[in-house]
Amino acid sequence: MNGITATEERIHQHGTRLQKAVRAAEEKPRPAWLDTLVLRAIADPGFRVQALRFIDVLPALQDDNELVAHLQEYFHATGLPWPVFTGWGLRHSDAPWAVHIAAPLVRATLRGLARRFMGGSQLQHALDTIVRLRSRGMQYSLDLLGEAVVSEAEAERYQQAYLELLHGLRDTGADNDSLDQPNLSLKLSSLYSQINPLDPATSVEKICERLRPILLAARECGARITLDMEQYDFRHIVLQCFMTVLMEPELRDWPHAGIAMQAYLCETREDLQWLIDWAVERGTPVQLRLVRGAYWDYETVIARQHGWEVPVWEHKAQTDANYEACLELLFAHHSSVSPAIATHNVRSLACAMTQAEQAGLAGDDFEFQMLYGMADELKQALVNLGYRLRVYVPYGETLPGMAYLVRRLLENTSGQTILDSGMVATGTGADLLARPVPWIAEPQQRPPPTFQNQPVHRFIRSAERNALQQALNEIKTELGREYPLIIGGDPVSGAGRITSINPARPDEIIGVAAAANRSQADQALTAATEAFPGWSRLPVTERAATLRRAALRLTEQRDRFAAWQILEAGKHWREADADVCEAIDFLNYYAGEAERLAAGQVVTVDGEHNELNYHPRGVGLVIAPWNFPLAILTGMLAATIVSGNTAILKPSSLTPVIAARFMELLQVAGLPPGVVNFLPGPGEDVGAYLAAHPDISVIAFTGSRDVGSRLLATGTQLADGQGHVKRVIAEMGGKNAIIIDADADLDDAIPGVVQSAFGYQGQKCSAASRIIVHRRIHDVFVERLRDATHSLVIGDPREPGQVFGPVIDAAAHTRIQGVIEQGKQVAQLVTEGRTDLPETGYYLSPAVFAGVAPDDALAQEEIFGPVTAVLQADDFEHALVLANNTRYALTGGVYSRRPAHLERARAVFQVGNLYLNRKITGALVARQPFGGFKLSGVGSKAGGPDYLKQFMDPVCITENTLRRGFAPAPGGNES
Ligand code: NAD
Repeated sequence: MNGITATEERIHQHGTRLQKAVRAAEEKPRPAWLDTLVLRAIADPGFRVQALRFIDVLPALQDDNELVAHLQEYFHATGLPWPVFTGWGLRHSDAPWAVHIAAPLVRATLRGLARRFMGGSQLQHALDTIVRLRSRGMQYSLDLLGEAVVSEAEAERYQQAYLELLHGLRDTGADNDSLDQPNLSLKLSSLYSQINPLDPATSVEKICERLRPILLAARECGARITLDMEQYDFRHIVLQCFMTVLMEPELRDWPHAGIAMQAYLCETREDLQWLIDWAVERGTPVQLRLVRGAYWDYETVIARQHGWEVPVWEHKAQTDANYEACLELLFAHHSSVSPAIATHNVRSLACAMTQAEQAGLAGDDFEFQMLYGMADELKQALVNLGYRLRVYVPYGETLPGMAYLVRRLLENTSGQTILDSGMVATGTGADLLARPVPWIAEPQQRPPPTFQNQPVHRFIRSAERNALQQALNEIKTELGREYPLIIGGDPVSGAGRITSINPARPDEIIGVAAAANRSQADQALTAATEAFPGWSRLPVTERAATLRRAALRLTEQRDRFAAWQILEAGKHWREADADVCEAIDFLNYYAGEAERLAAGQVVTVDGEHNELNYHPRGVGLVIAPWNFPLAILTGMLAATIVSGNTAILKPSSLTPVIAARFMELLQVAGLPPGVVNFLPGPGEDVGAYLAAHPDISVIAFTGSRDVGSRLLATGTQLADGQGHVKRVIAEMGGKNAIIIDADADLDDAIPGVVQSAFGYQGQKCSAASRIIVHRRIHDVFVERLRDATHSLVIGDPREPGQVFGPVIDAAAHTRIQGVIEQGKQVAQLVTEGRTDLPETGYYLSPAVFAGVAPDDALAQEEIFGPVTAVLQADDFEHALVLANNTRYALTGGVYSRRPAHLERARAVFQVGNLYLNRKITGALVARQPFGGFKLSGVGSKAGGPDYLKQFMDPVCITENTLRRGFAPAPGGNES
């Protein structure tokens, strides 16, 4: 018998013995309705999602009517398998009196359900649970549940709660032998609200500051602590914290620390080896808890959504096989890393028993771990067979805890977690013990290439971070360079100069751009006009190819372009990177769109041939803003030229260097001379002059409402001899609102609002500047938003960990400061002024105003800075009225878990881009075509299928193909 066969044989023996013990273990039967509920959840994915979503929203439903309304909307009253009384209450829930019977019954039922999976809501309950477990020969690990931590104040409270729990356990343990060694699990994301993979060192330092006292207290109390592993983005940080703090002299010889590792991650085996080597060096063992991992769906969805490599094994059998491979590694090094096998999977259990035996381990050298409330027969069977078993007991307030548990454990809507949990018996004995055979993907037939967004950097790999850091270092030598005008492909000195500075360090000159005067504007017009015939007659494929070549070059130099934005526009790393990716997207997307439109439309009927084609208009004027200094400029310019027009590009005077560098890139990419003429200069002078010039036929503008509306007026004026009406595409400002409904998930809504309001210091046209909050949660929301805002890391965007930088220039600083001072007269400024603002640079404290009247300037005028106004709404309808009470209609958002409210928002919220349950900034080309209406703009959405048509004239040609009764057949064949 070879080795594999012998091992398999032994695994089967152990597995069969275990299954026999399971059958012998007597457990309290589960209520029939719970079994039915779980089985239905497994069989019916739609129901499963609704059920999990309902449990998730339940804690937020304090009001009986709301609870019943949610229930009806989630399940449409389809026969849910409730316990008898609850079912009765629900059937009568249309009657007003019955609501107050049905709602408490539902709460009580689900609270009962929650209690099956939680050790209690207070320490005393948890202790009772522990004593019960001990009486059955089981040990425990307590997991303190709570809401997600969105601010430093919350992180501190969480740390305190942990310390209190430790001391509580120690004090109680003194007179209770069942509690001999308190055992706690801990999530590091609860200890620091600003974890940032871009700056792991700071994250590790901040977490360790709060972790250290916990571990020291645990040591003093004789407790054991295991760090949970969380989402993939935090994995390195969690590992680093663990290794850093446990190497410190006061903890290096402490043997009671552990960490969880997830077998579903493709990299876990290497991580384990790394941990093992480290543990050997440390000289004191640690415990390693091997789990499969609870965020499979999340990791897969997030990676696919962003175009990143999926970090988890895509098939369950691969995870199962990896679990066994990891077990082998753990058992081989059990003296340095003591294995804790956390699984409900019978095959994995049998495999662990076999490997432990083969490695010569005694029963005390490892332990099994299982979740409280699940697979109880299996637990008892293990204990009966003499194995050590620890039960992972979540503890905290029942209903919120349940919701948290749902998110952590059952959010994998694939249902696999439920199956693995042992909640229900599935399969036959032999199936359950079969060796996992990793499934090999068949090479798939790829669909024809369509547009794909350029993935932003995830920044969890040091290579990505180092590349951007290196780009920042490299461009230092190029600071202060002069950039000429480019007219007809040639450099031309300007009539003036625009000195561009770094808003974070105003004495640092980024570059000096030439500024054009009117006669140079005329020269540029001549060059563009002369280049038009040649460029417009090129086949569209050639123009598209030029854009694609530029996209390729930009992709190669993406870090350098991001670095320029960090310095010239004060964008932090992620924002700068995203802006470059968007520019790449515009180039590729409009190249494809131009080719699509070039096919035109052909309609043939008997004796008649019709063609609809699009023709370029002439010379376009592109006037760009500074806040997306590359993306928006590139989008407007690419659309202009790929349509066959030539262009004059006038960048913002605040960010001319990025524009100049992009112009250089276009030239290198082979753009013929004169197709784009680069003409920085004062907007109110050359900009206005060109806009009024009769030789301009399209104006693509993005910027403020005042300038935009002036350009629209200019566009309608006919100059002497002007033979066309100008097309003006003007994308302007916004006064964007996010509605926070009474049942909103604040753990999601708070970070979403912070990012929407304060991302790039609120200097986005899409930024949230009005937050309309249901009165029932208003005060809690404002307090959490204030604390979260106060926790933002402020500083020079050049440093990777900073998320909040300076505003663009001194004028903006003074203006926004003035708005804040005025606001204080009419509303309550709930955020405090930050005392940690850098001394130089145009920094401002992010400001949240509460008690803002709907018609006050704070709620009506675009501020374009880090200021947001909170308004209170009586109910959802009122919130919608407030949201629409503005002259703008750009972006808007709703955080609500009530299906009917989301439906209502879809129908009546007047905005160009509506976002449900997510932040309202960061639209992606093609996926979220962007642009507004009312005073927010006149134009079809950028990055959408109608955009290019605005740069062209549609022409329809009809030919009569009937000659003397002789006509080709429809389709053109004359047979
Ligand atoms: P701005 O209107 O001050 O400047 C935009 C451009 O117009 C600059 O290049 C400027 O030099 C030029 N300009 C100024 N006066 C001119 C004139 N009289 N004639 C011709 N050109 C002139 O805007 P900004 O400060 O650069 O950008 C911020 C504004 O842009 C905000 O209002 C923001 O909401 C808006 N914005 C809108 C969108 C959108 O897609 N809707 C996107 C980004 C920014």
